[in-house]
Order: sequence, then structure tokens, then C-alpha cells
Amino acid sequence: MLLEKIQGHKNTIKYLCSIIAKQRLAKTYLFFGPEGVGRELTANAFIMELICKNKHTLKLKHACEQCNDCRKILNKNHPDIKYIDPEQNKTIKIDQIREIKKTLQLKPYSLFNVCIIKKAHMMTIEASNAFLKILEEPTQNSLIILITNKKELLLPTIVSRCTQVGFNYLSIQETMKIVKDKIDISQEDLDFIISFSQGSPGLALQMIENKLNNKKDRVLTFLNNIVQDKTFSFVWDNENKNELIEDLDFLILFFRNIVLKKEIKEKTIDCKIVINNKIYDFFKTYSIDKIYNILEKILELKQGLLNNMNPKIIAQNLVMCFK
Ligand SMILES: [Zn+2]
Repeated sequence: MLLEKIQGHKNTIKYLCSIIAKQRLAKTYLFFGPEGVGRELTANAFIMELICKNKHTLKLKHACEQCNDCRKILNKNHPDIKYIDPEQNKTIKIDQIREIKKTLQLKPYSLFNVCIIKKAHMMTIEASNAFLKILEEPTQNSLIILITNKKELLLPTIVSRCTQVGFNYLSIQETMKIVKDKIDISQEDLDFIISFSQGSPGLALQMIENKLNNKKDRVLTFLNNIVQDKTFSFVWDNENKNELIEDLDFLILFFRNIVLKKEIKEKTIDCKIVINNKIYDFFKTYSIDKIYNILEKILELKQGLLNNMNPKIIAQNLVMCFK
């Protein structure tokens, strides 16, 4: 996708376009902001503008999206671009940083050697220190883009050496457009996931992939029972504890939405459109303290599940959060 066609992030995109226009490229960028809002997509679009052969030889205004370089960038298999991910989603190890060093020293096939480090905050201390050395001895024609949603976990000495580029949550309309363009989905389901995805199209798409409907029914039934019956007891006889974790995640999002609604009174996040009015109005009467209390308890239960506590006991305790 071309940089200027990316949804949202107006100022950020404008800034990146100006860097390209003025050819004032830094060696290292830190793309920070929430997950699923297009940080990696933007990084790829940015690189495409820098590397596209046609753009330079034919003096085009934008990358052509057709040449060999553009197509390879779009398919994420360009030989000059290395993507680093945390191993098993846990840490980025020193060996991976050594790989980066090697890559950056090679002669690029195109104009640049590029490294995109995803979840950069997951570098181990050793990896961070090795990475710092790379930043201290920059190589020619190289570009590094760090991507993170937890900037505060990076070494300050790394952050200070990067040009920072911020991303934010998208609006309801922007999120809706992105999801609609990608997936054929009913309006009702779309409304539901948009209200829960909090301006992160990536999260919305992930929800659809994770069988949204089952979850939606389970969570709505649970909340409805809480509203209607004070003596309701929640029994979990499903073997799959991950489903319970997902349900807790949905409940956390639901109550966070209510807090945001009450505290900020913004229209950006609207859970009323999907949670039937009865459920919504019921919980809206709760005080902020009471909702925070519920949220805290649900978060504790989720941690319990992650620490292998018995899902049946967690389910019993979940009802207690509301009593
Ligand atoms: Zn091109």
C-alpha cells in the first residue's frame, strides 16, 4: 500500500512524506503506538517509497507498486529487508541482533539494507546492548525501524538514538472501513467487533479470525444472566481454558469501554450499539469505582488462569466479581 493511502495517522504520514521529499533520512526510526493500527504497514510503505526503482529512474511522485522491488516489498520477501520477530513471541535474542549486524554490512541489491524489528521491547538485555553497538557504529545505506507498543521498556539509550514516529488508535469510521474492505461481514457483527476493538483494525480482524460469533453469544449470555439473576451461578465445563481466557478478555474490554464512556464521554468508543440497551444501561449505573473493582478482579482471574488455576473455580469466582 502507498504511504498516502494508509488510513488515519494523518500527521505521522505527512511527516514521513516530508522526510522522503526532503531526502532527510535518519538511520533509525522508532515506530511506537498501539498494536494493530498499521505501524508495520506504514513501515513497509515508507520503505517502498525509498527503494522503488521506477520512482527514482522515472521521477515518479510515488512508488510504482509494480517494479520488482515494490512487488517484493509488498510480498514481504525483498532480499534487502530483514524482519526480526521475538522467538516464540517471547524474546529477541542476541543471535538475532548479530544477524541484523551481518545484514546491514552486506551490499544491498537495491538502495538500502533495511531491518524491521517487531516488538522491539522484547530484546533481552544482551540483545539490547548489542543493538546499541549497531546504533553507535552506523553502516552506510542502512535503515532500521523498531516497532513497539511498549516504548517505555526499551533502553533509554536506544530510544534517544532513534527518530520517533508515533501512532495512535484509529477512529470508528477508519477502523470500520479497513475491516469492511478486507472481510465480508454482516453489519451486526461488524458493529460488535468495532466496538470491542477500540480503534485497532488489527485486533478487529484477529477477533473475526478467532470465531467472533461463539464468543459474542457466550459473553452476552453471561452478562445477561448477571443482569437478570442475582443468584446466577456460572458453571464452566468446557475443557478448553483458552476460551475462558478469551471471554475474560471480552469482559475486560466491555468494562473498559464503559469506563471510557463514563469518564471521557467521548463518542469514539460506542458499546451501546452492540450490547443490548438493557445490559448497557444496567452496568452504566455502576460507579466508576465499582467498575474498576470488577475489572481488577477479572484481571486477577485471568492471571490465575494463565498460572494454571482450575477453570471451574475461576468461573465460580467470576460470578462473585459482580456480587
Ligand atoms: Zn516500484
